Amino acid sequence: MSESGPAIFAAGTLMPVSSPPVRDGAVLVREGRIEAVGGLSDVGRENPDAEVRFFPNYTMIPGAVNTHAHLGFRRMDAPVGGTFSGWLGRLIERLPEKEAWTAEAARDSAREAVEAGTTYMAESSPYGECLPQLAESGMAGTVYAEFFPHEIGTPEESVEFIIGKVRELQKGLPERVNASVSVHSPYTVDPVSSRLAAQRTRQMGWTLAIHLSESPEEVEFVREGTGGLADIFGSNEWGGVGLSPVRYARSVELLAPQTIAAHLATGVSEEDIEILARSGVAAAHCPRSNDFLGCGVSPVVRMIQSGIRVGMGTDGLWSSPSMNLFEETLFAVKLHGMSGAEGLDLATLAGARSLGLDAETGTIEAGKWADLAVVETSPEGGDAEMDVLEAAAGGGVAATVVGGNVIYNRLGA
Ligand SMILES: [Zn+2]
Repeated sequence: MSESGPAIFAAGTLMPVSSPPVRDGAVLVREGRIEAVGGLSDVGRENPDAEVRFFPNYTMIPGAVNTHAHLGFRRMDAPVGGTFSGWLGRLIERLPEKEAWTAEAARDSAREAVEAGTTYMAESSPYGECLPQLAESGMAGTVYAEFFPHEIGTPEESVEFIIGKVRELQKGLPERVNASVSVHSPYTVDPVSSRLAAQRTRQMGWTLAIHLSESPEEVEFVREGTGGLADIFGSNEWGGVGLSPVRYARSVELLAPQTIAAHLATGVSEEDIEILARSGVAAAHCPRSNDFLGCGVSPVVRMIQSGIRVGMGTDGLWSSPSMNLFEETLFAVKLHGMSGAEGLDLATLAGARSLGLDAETGTIEAGKWADLAVVETSPEGGDAEMDVLEAAAGGGVAATVVGGNVIYNRLGA
């Protein structure tokens, strides 16, 4: 963790997200947490012993919170997209060869996220295989261990296996790195295992990650039990329940405030949005992945209006062009006609809220962890938030700070 002495991080513009921008703003950090926020002259005068890092021509914002990602993929050999089931079939074919390079891909993906200003990452990987690379990266985050019951045994055996596995993974982790369970999707985890995993993780007080209502093929699989996904997984023993994926997820108790549901891109009706809102579940919006895989456009504006917590996710490099969460967010801002301020909120505070972490991170406020991104731009009037979002999306992050630790600094300042 950080050195014991206090430190001041300051920038030409400080954009806390929770309050208006401050010219020559400063953040006083002690033991990794923010103790005070204000003008550099005031904060500096009151804390003469603090070491000062000042980025005069830059803007300091809260670090990005990535609410849904996979680290173990690499950009160079992504399968072609177009349709979700076609892509997934190609992905599955290549799982054996992928073993040789998953760890390296995870390190590279994590590094790319750090260099794009990401300070918190919710990652999902088979049996939590990318946890070591997340833990080494310096980011805070949770790895959600996916399990596939057909590889393990009965639903009871499968769920106890993954609960035991996560307990193992949780041992000896850095302070802000955690492990939990992912119920991968309605087409890979059967209903009995899904319900049991939801119940057991709630009992443990853990959060849960799921993929839900992502593709047209998933909608068909759950409703009719047919289509591209039924073909991939052979005979379909549990599809065809005559429900939308959201209604199905409710029926197996997956929807709860502790659950983060990725995508909700295809086949989400107004009735589904009401169900989601009532359940308190949060959503991870991954628009570039949805675009690449023919999964339509998530009704995020309606979801936000309905009070559903929505954060942004990059997904992984086999369905998405980068691990830059600000770039993902800029894509969403353009897609949905949002303002720069709405975008900056989505990338930071809204993400933290979606993961139940808004008391800990997501804004630059006293009491929270000092999770910061320093961006190469000094906005002058106009849409200052859009300026900083565009700069961060375009490779303008110059430094990343997690819990007061500088984990990336291309300026050497
Ligand atoms: Zn995903």
